[in-house]
Amino acid sequence: MSLEKKDPEIFSLIEKELQRQKEMLDLIASENYAPKEILEASGSVLTNKYSEGYPGKRYYAGNEFIDKVETLAIERAKELFGMPCANVQAHSGSTANFEAYRALMKYGDTLMGLKLDQGGHLTHGSPVNFSGQIYNIVSYGVDKDSEQLDYDAIMEQAKEVKPKVIVCGYTAYPRTVYFDKFREIADACGAYLLCDIAHIAGLIAGGAHMPAGPYADVITTTTHKSLRGPRGAIILAKEEHCKSINKGVFPGSQGGPLDHITAAKAVCFHNAMQPEFREYAAQIVKNAKSLAEELKAKGFRLVSGGTDNHLVLVDVKSRGLNGKIAQNALENAGVVCNKNTIPYDTEKPFVGSGIRLGTPAVTTRGMKEDDMKVVAEVFSRVLESPEDEALHSKVKSEVAEFMGKFPIYGDL
Ligand SMILES: *Cc1c(COP(=O)(O)O)cnc(C)c1O
Repeated sequence: MSLEKKDPEIFSLIEKELQRQKEMLDLIASENYAPKEILEASGSVLTNKYSEGYPGKRYYAGNEFIDKVETLAIERAKELFGMPCANVQAHSGSTANFEAYRALMKYGDTLMGLKLDQGGHLTHGSPVNFSGQIYNIVSYGVDKDSEQLDYDAIMEQAKEVKPKVIVCGYTAYPRTVYFDKFREIADACGAYLLCDIAHIAGLIAGGAHMPAGPYADVITTTTHKSLRGPRGAIILAKEEHCKSINKGVFPGSQGGPLDHITAAKAVCFHNAMQPEFREYAAQIVKNAKSLAEELKAKGFRLVSGGTDNHLVLVDVKSRGLNGKIAQNALENAGVVCNKNTIPYDTEKPFVGSGIRLGTPAVTTRGMKEDDMKVVAEVFSRVLESPEDEALHSKVKSEVAEFMGKFPIYGDL
């Protein structure tokens, strides 16, 4: 029986959410639209299976085909990111980091990551997260003037602190991450280098950002952001960490893998190896650069002055607003994005002085550089009148019409 008949309440909420996704302008830098084949794999009967363990070494019978699926996912992940070992069972980016840390450090060891309010992730040492509670955290920051990573300063700090692990890879950093420089830093202080490429995995896979593979000891990444796969994560590692990573995932912190998601990850890696994906990754960056230029032309100050990747961080405080007010006004006008702190922010994280915008999702919908003019125009109009509700609802219907030109999920 169909979901519509069995559970009309949930069915109708899913329908409404689909409609919302079609009509709203999604500028959330960590979101994307998974293609239909990914939805198909992740909504498949593979969800019925138990397969604790790894291919060829399972704790349950009946894994003949699951083994093949997981092996394909592993082989494709290794090829895509150029690492000798891959674990494709991590449920999310946060658990992947937990599992990777546990493989590289003992509780109480020192972890060096970017401050959360300057673009790091919660799992990079925030006191409200497991990372800040079980490891000794020494955070690095960005330079106050350039708002970019100062590799010399990080080198100096790392030599003094001697961390066990240095983590690089961010949630709100609009510039290239020089993994080669981090490798030098890690070597100089005897640390392991963990590259958390969750946000830029799609750019790396598509050749639009320098790779992490040649430099990292371990790589963690989500699969649902710029990589455009199912919601989940993977861990890649050098051979020497392979065993401890695998043991750390299962039985260390997870039970059975999500085999339907593993299948969808395999499809995602296959997609990311196609020539079209290189075009997609390049277009994400072109769109972000175009959006940055348009916003600057409209007088917005951008953190670090621009972007090299898929995101721009707009300082809305310089326009007399804060992130919370701006996010709400934009949402009422059909634009979804998120408030964010900016480096050396004086606002609390729940308010923030910035708005983070990203182009992976709109690029999936087929937008090009010229369309960013429209996006910047909408953004600017709404933030010029953050309290004008009549204007917001007018803009909302204009946005829905504009989004109609970039269809997704045609017959879904
Ligand atoms: C998104 C993200 C994560 C966490 O991923 P979840 O799947 O939400 O747990 C970790 N690190 C970075 C850098 C991220 O951007």
